[in-house]
Amino acid sequence: MSRRILIAGNWKMNSAPEGACTESSVYHSTEHVDVAVFPTFLDLEECIAAGILTGGQFGHPEAHGAHTGDISMAMLKDNGCSMVLCGHSERRDHHKETNAHVAQQAKAALEVGLHPIVCIGETEAEREHNEQEDVIRRQMADLPLNADITIAYEPVWAIGTGNTATPEQAQEIHALIRSLLPEERTESTRILYGGSMKPSNAQELLLQPDIDGGLIGGASLEPEAFGEIIAIAEQLSQDN
Ligand code: PEP
Repeated sequence: MSRRILIAGNWKMNSAPEGACTESSVYHSTEHVDVAVFPTFLDLEECIAAGILTGGQFGHPEAHGAHTGDISMAMLKDNGCSMVLCGHSERRDHHKETNAHVAQQAKAALEVGLHPIVCIGETEAEREHNEQEDVIRRQMADLPLNADITIAYEPVWAIGTGNTATPEQAQEIHALIRSLLPEERTESTRILYGGSMKPSNAQELLLQPDIDGGLIGGASLEPEAFGEIIAIAEQLSQDN
């Protein structure tokens, strides 16, 4: 496989794990695997200083203005971030981010030179009604798919619940996502899986042909578990 695996840790509203923002922590890229973290805004600087690939959990599309509590893409970039999450399901739910707003975020990130990881995925009710494919199509419709972006498929029912999608369920949606990319981006675009990924299920998920890494919440706060997932990814990359 030509795509390098990306293992990304979303620390959400949690402090950096002890010792994480250091040069010797497990949160660093390895020979064949890119590793990135998404800390709170307060821990960005320390992670960047430790040489860790670091991104914001959100960035506002506008450069500045009356947006209390927000931070702009340009500010993230100017402070040393290289990536940003766009449209995580918790942001879509708690902050009412629409597909259109998420697309604006991704475009604004690209404009300032940040790499966007755009999160998409259906809710439990949408899967129960077999609507997951329509949801994915709608969520992708306005995205700048002809640019260098990463997509994270995160079924909402699997996030933080311990209910991981089966490798087959995940692969089915990842293949759909890839089929919706413009031809020139089909092979190069990374598509991550997110939703209760942990050491015990990482291998079977990462073995799927269209799964190019993981966006990991809970397990990314446990350095040992996160390190195990990175080691699994590194081994799979070496075997390929
Ligand atoms: C996430 O927050 O993006 C996520 C996938 O969380 P968890 O791994 O805890 O399900």
